Amino acid sequence: MSGKKVYILSGAGLSAESGIKTFRDSDGLWENYSIEEVCSTGGWIRDRQKVTYFYDARRADLESKEPNYAHIRLAELKKKYPENIFMLTQNVDNMLEKAGCTDVVHLHGTLTDLRCEECFQVFSIGYLPQSDAVCPKCNSSMIRHNVVMFGENAPAYENLRKLYNEAQMVVVIGTSGNVIDTAYISQIIDNSILNNLDVDENHDQYFSKKLYLPATEAIDEIFAHVEEFLR
Ligand SMILES: [Zn+2]
Repeated sequence: MSGKKVYILSGAGLSAESGIKTFRDSDGLWENYSIEEVCSTGGWIRDRQKVTYFYDARRADLESKEPNYAHIRLAELKKKYPENIFMLTQNVDNMLEKAGCTDVVHLHGTLTDLRCEECFQVFSIGYLPQSDAVCPKCNSSMIRHNVVMFGENAPAYENLRKLYNEAQMVVVIGTSGNVIDTAYISQIIDNSILNNLDVDENHDQYFSKKLYLPATEAIDEIFAHVEEFLR
């Protein structure tokens, strides 16, 4: 097996076909909440209860969702080439894991976990509401959702530095480059595949291959390209 490293970076477009919406679809409103209220540190400081209910509802929503064909194929790819494939996602859902994918790095956190504000322990809550959860490590009741908000650091971005340093191929699926600078990534890595629904000339120009299709329709071709590259 070659020592080549392929980084796969996914965003909302990967989970859209599983019926998972994000605030980016929604013009500043998400289920009648303003994004500022529920996705920023300012909103969290102003009204913890409101933000907690919001993430409780997102978590409950997730329970009925199923991975789509693209999640399933990505999980297969990771299983087949565990040493070569690095799976990074901006999504906070658990669709890749539910499809059987291991070692997924969630750059913006996870809906199905909570985090202790005292000792920073992250622990699973599944699809349950936060209610009066306490930290399993330090017993604190200062608990929050495990999703990165605007105005916060994202510690998992450390993995992007690894991507810059060691990826020989990058596959970008379903993200427009608004949050993570995927245009820059395509300029520094020779082999780059982009799969998005919409064309964005400025963003897309340096990708070596572009697939303007829903992720479920592009994934077989992506799978074949990655395999060919690894051979
Ligand atoms: Zn704790």
